[in-house]
Amino acid sequence: MGVLDSFSLAGRVALVTGGSRGLGFAIARALGEAGAAVGLVARDGAAVASAAESLAALGIRTFATSADVRSASSVDAAVSAVSDALGAPVSVLVNNAGISIPGRALEVEPSDWSDVLSTNLDGVFHCSRAVCSRLVAAGMPGTIVNVGSMSAFIVNQPRWQPAYLASKAAVHQLTRALAAEWAPHGVRVNAIAPGYFLTEQSPVDQPEFRATCVEPAALKRWGEPHELGPAVTFLASEASSFMTGSIVVIDGGFTLF
Ligand code: NDP
Repeated sequence: MGVLDSFSLAGRVALVTGGSRGLGFAIARALGEAGAAVGLVARDGAAVASAAESLAALGIRTFATSADVRSASSVDAAVSAVSDALGAPVSVLVNNAGISIPGRALEVEPSDWSDVLSTNLDGVFHCSRAVCSRLVAAGMPGTIVNVGSMSAFIVNQPRWQPAYLASKAAVHQLTRALAAEWAPHGVRVNAIAPGYFLTEQSPVDQPEFRATCVEPAALKRWGEPHELGPAVTFLASEASSFMTGSIVVIDGGFTLF
């Protein structure tokens, strides 16, 4: 297999949570361009259907379904629906769905704390388990890429968000735990740790974020969502065949200093 062939996802069914916009949509597009059929999941059914239409217009086979990653039963139904629609078990999972509800520890509502943890952490657990159990039953290998954050390593707070930081640190360690546990099944589990990327959740083009989110990065800019796609494709594909349990930092050099 040539080096470029090893990045191919032809014949694979991928599922991207939070694929309706932002980083998830850009990742889904990259996986599709690498040859995967791509299932998109988000809570807003109309938004995720419209994202799937955009991918289909690029010639990518897609299927969209509404699901809430906080619910194991909702996730289970979505994984079945994606594999039924696209004709094979999901063998690439990108756990991208995530939220941030800013609030200092002394002020945050307990329900907001729980919402962040259940979306960002429980969601990764439910989706990973739903996909891996089917792969084990089918005797198939697979790859899981979790979207963590550089916020797992640093406390850089234009908006205070302890729940978000804790959730992402937990995602990194869950990545390592699942990598160790599922290696015997041929399922590799890695994570990316993005820095600041311009999305709805992260409006880093606003002037008030320049000093804290843009200037400290070695590259002196924010990331564009399409700049994550190649790294996720690498981790999802045979090109990364000797990697599992790795956390790949993609932050424009923010955490160098
Ligand atoms: P966006 O807010 O733009 O998109 C979030 C996506 O997740 C949407 O599709 C949303 O759809 C979906 N989502 C949220 N909650 C749920 C849920 N309970 N069930 C299913 N889907 C859900 O965020 P970004 O693209 O900026 O972020 C994507 C990921 O990247 C997140 O995990 C984030 O923490 C992480 N990240 C982002 C960084 C950045 O700078 N942008 C930096 C580091 C990490 P819907 O609301 O319809 O459910």
